[in-house]
Amino acid sequence: RPLVAIRNVSKQFANGTIAVRDVNLDLAAGEFVSLLGPSGCGKSTLLRMVAGLGDPSVGTIDWMGSAHDAWGRPARELGFVFQDPTLMPWATALDNVVLPLKLAGVNRGEAAARGAEMLALVGLKGFETSYPRELSGGMKMRVSIARALVTHPKILLMDEPFAALDEITRHKLNDDLLRLWEANRFTAVFVTHSVFESVYLSQRIVVMAARPGRVMADLRVGAPYPRDD
Ligand code: ADP
Ligand code: ADP
Repeated sequence: RPLVAIRNVSKQFANGTIAVRDVNLDLAAGEFVSLLGPSGCGKSTLLRMVAGLGDPSVGTIDWMGSAHDAWGRPARELGFVFQDPTLMPWATALDNVVLPLKLAGVNRGEAAARGAEMLALVGLKGFETSYPRELSGGMKMRVSIARALVTHPKILLMDEPFAALDEITRHKLNDDLLRLWEANRFTAVFVTHSVFESVYLSQRIVVMAARPGRVMADLRVGAPYPRDD
């Protein structure tokens, strides 16, 4: 049984642009999927609809077996990472990470403990009290990933998260993301226009095409790239 079932989904914006056309996809629990395609092919639009940020014009996106909030949306079961780390500049790394726990009503002590544990998992032990301006681009992205995972969501949605980083930092973050996924086995959906990145990270690559906003291929790519450690 899939975790998320995308059925006959199309999206037309108010200005007439059809960004997504008749997409059918199942997302299985625990898999690492890349959504690959050139700029403008509808990857973000599709990912955002999975997150509940914008409804399909046609079709349905069903979350199987998830609790739903008052608006019928899956409650706290997903984390979202944007290309921009979108941290609050006035808050420390730890305060940024624990925000979703505070919103969920988790008490301060437990939130701080879980936040510190998440920061350690993304390699930022010792940076709890640092402010975003004191961190490098890669470190800010790590904070953003920690914030997305701190609620232990079933699914982590990432929209070109490393596109603005230099190649070496990007490579390190790819490895660290794989390590996190191997340890926790959330479902990962990773939007990218990099063929290399999609092959390196994923077990499955869903290829979207430029003009029509359609899924052109759904490829199995085997085990993640073997690494030394
Ligand atoms: P990708 O993530 O693959 O770059 P997007 O999903 O961002 O593609 O965009 C797909 C198409 O939809 C593009 O032509 C884009 O210009 C258009 N688009 C995206 N968001 C909107 C919007 N809010 N209103 C109108 N058109 C949009
Ligand atoms: P990242 O890959 O997380 O962006 P980088 O290796 O690119 O980290 O480092 C960017 C800057 O941040 C460097 O100047 C480095 O000194 C600093 N930095 C990164 N990680 C640490 C760390 N664990 N301790 C101290 N400084 C760090």
